[in-house]
Amino acid sequence: MEHTSYIEISKSAYSNNIRFIKSQIGENVTISSVIKGNAYGHGIENTVKIAESVGIRHFSAFSTDEAIRVQKSSTKNSQVMIMGMVDNENLPYLIENEISFYVFEMDRLEAAVQKSKELGKKAMIHIEVETGFHRTGYEWDEKEMLLESLKENSNHLQLCGLCTHYAGAESVANYVRIQNQIKRYHEFKNWFNDNEIHFDRYHTACSAASFSYPETIMDMVRIGIAQYGFWPSQETYMFKFKQLAPNKKNPLKRLISWKSSIMSLKKIKIGDFIGYGNSYMAARDMTIAQVPVGYCHGFGRSLSNLGKVLIHGKTLSVVGNVTMNSISVDVTDLKNVKKGDEVVIIGRQKRNEITVASFGESTQQVNYELLTRLPNDIPRKIVT
Ligand SMILES: *Cc1c(COP(=O)(O)O)cnc(C)c1O
Repeated sequence: MEHTSYIEISKSAYSNNIRFIKSQIGENVTISSVIKGNAYGHGIENTVKIAESVGIRHFSAFSTDEAIRVQKSSTKNSQVMIMGMVDNENLPYLIENEISFYVFEMDRLEAAVQKSKELGKKAMIHIEVETGFHRTGYEWDEKEMLLESLKENSNHLQLCGLCTHYAGAESVANYVRIQNQIKRYHEFKNWFNDNEIHFDRYHTACSAASFSYPETIMDMVRIGIAQYGFWPSQETYMFKFKQLAPNKKNPLKRLISWKSSIMSLKKIKIGDFIGYGNSYMAARDMTIAQVPVGYCHGFGRSLSNLGKVLIHGKTLSVVGNVTMNSISVDVTDLKNVKKGDEVVIIGRQKRNEITVASFGESTQQVNYELLTRLPNDIPRKIVT
């Protein structure tokens, strides 16, 4: 193995998750698979492949580079949508290749119209409206100007969607804010419809909104974290929990496992310090395994003396500081431990499991952040 660790992506877990999501949103709603952040660390190419194999035909990227990767790896001519960054200089490429993109300001709209005219081909756009997230989106008092421009340029624009994003649908603390957003979205929608502007799709819901606010499920949902087998928050899970059948209390399955192996072993004496500084002193004679995964690989320094890994099916502690390229693990209590033995950083080994959440909890990182910080150059492979 050239690399120090590798990541496995489970196809059967993915198809299980899509089945569950469909059972929640209904069969006729389009699922857009959100693949920003290198598909939440899973790898865009892998995710497109397994998603298309279970019938997903719509993907959401944040930026042009990601959208291009989706299109290059797609074998089913799936639709690709960009929800965030587009440089005006990339507009001709997007229009030519029928990649749709969010428009949330006049500058981008005018540029899209302009390029569409030059190319003689419609730009495929989604109008994002401001409902209370306060990141991007047309303001309520820009709607007349927007309407006028959409009408005037209707030959150059395909109105693929009217969309917005909710500010924290995963927490009940945001309930009032979300309700106000839903209301404002409908005001926009009705206003456009009253003025004879119709969109191909109306889409607002992410994973948490789809689970906790079913009224936000419209023609399409944009599903990120749930397809990868994680609840947007503990709260979203609790909310759903009581509705789940007794034998199906755990309907989302993690796709990702992260594995390495023991690089070397060393015996140390009671009183010896391990690694940099003096954060760990051996309280007995010990055997220490070096595992070639460090903070440069996404195993955070904050897991020094806190992290856990699995070896021989046992949960073992990281001792001393996490270094750039390796960690030290206390294997004193294992029998017949040897160089090359498998080390599980995230995933299952025999009867024990380290979940992404438990890996993250000791450092306050949320699933989203931890996953997307897994470096691109760790090899990912699809397993069944
Ligand atoms: C990231 C994102 C989503 C998906 O969110 P999840 O919580 O991962 O389901 C949906 N819509 C937009 C605009 C996003 O940025």
